[in-house]
Amino acid sequence: MIPICEPSIGEEELANVVEAVRSGWVSSKGNFIIEFEEKFARYCGVSHGVATANGTVALHLALVALGIGAGHEVIVPSLTFIATANAVRYAGAKPVLVDSHPDYWCLDPAAIERAITPKTKAIIPVHLYGHPCDMEPIADIAKRHHLYIIEDAAESHGAEYKGRKVGSLSDIACFSFYGNKIITTGEGGMCLSDDEGLVQRMRVLRDHGATPGKPFWHDVVGFNYRMTNLQAALGVAQLQKIDTFVEKKRLLATWYGNALKGPFDRGAIQPPPEMPWAKSVYWMYTVLVAGSLGIGSGDVISRLRDRGIEARPVFYPVEAMPMYRRPKRSPVAEDLSQRGLSLPSSVNLTAEQVRYIGEAMGTVLA
Ligand SMILES: *Cc1c(COP(=O)(O)O)cnc(C)c1O
Repeated sequence: MIPICEPSIGEEELANVVEAVRSGWVSSKGNFIIEFEEKFARYCGVSHGVATANGTVALHLALVALGIGAGHEVIVPSLTFIATANAVRYAGAKPVLVDSHPDYWCLDPAAIERAITPKTKAIIPVHLYGHPCDMEPIADIAKRHHLYIIEDAAESHGAEYKGRKVGSLSDIACFSFYGNKIITTGEGGMCLSDDEGLVQRMRVLRDHGATPGKPFWHDVVGFNYRMTNLQAALGVAQLQKIDTFVEKKRLLATWYGNALKGPFDRGAIQPPPEMPWAKSVYWMYTVLVAGSLGIGSGDVISRLRDRGIEARPVFYPVEAMPMYRRPKRSPVAEDLSQRGLSLPSSVNLTAEQVRYIGEAMGTVLA
């Protein structure tokens, strides 16, 4: 079976983790944590990083640090992984779901404007499947309405918007280092920010709200959202390879472009977008099956499975889930959800495997 997206972990990772274990610093104090925070922040062009236990709590930490809670609304894309909306709920605020732009699948700036109310406090643009959001109009809206921006960059390490890396385009950016993300720490996440006050608040909240310099004194209800030194040891080694991983993801997109030329040319499927202002990292190489074929992504997925290929549908719109059900629909997100199909995207994939997947797709879609 060719898996959808497996991590690439080598001897360097192993050596770092062994070093961390031998050092005895197995919890959340240790040199790998500091090194990972500094180096990942620098990679993204941001001054500070706050490593967390995973990407979901990174989002929650960012919201709480910005003072977002009960009575507030936060704009979230309808088409995203559920964690984006859930984090807003954890903070006690209301996620307001906004539809995607049909050309690049991320938050549609025009739709954001229409969703703003006096209760709106923040926008969470999600750089979906490795493609950045159109951040200039979003920043313009945020400025006019005095809103914070929290990037959810969990799927897009290394992606660029007009030459600037994602993660550097907001008040706080949140990343995930889950096993199938661009780089992994097993489980893990990070908040990035240039604002020292916010960074300090996140560090305190991450560690039970402990007051620096006054042991066991707590002024606020914080969390244990810390990353372990073992996770960071893995992350430091992964970070040395991030440029290679990003280039390989982009190479996979080129290979898929050739391997799927037949189905693309006859309109059976549509390739993933890359807008002129974007550098996508193609986290998951995702195509759209033509609606006119009368088959959905689900049919294609089971036929590919018969041929030893693991493919996945894209996310359901958040409002399709019982906890977020509402009468208003997001037609673009719904359409993408029904037709979106992610193909194997591991950085270890070979050209031969991509050709095989291309041939299988040709047969399955015929
Ligand atoms: C993976 C992901 C998250 C959550 O990250 P975890 O590390 O799994 O908690 C959040 N948002 C998006 C868009 C993701 O893809």
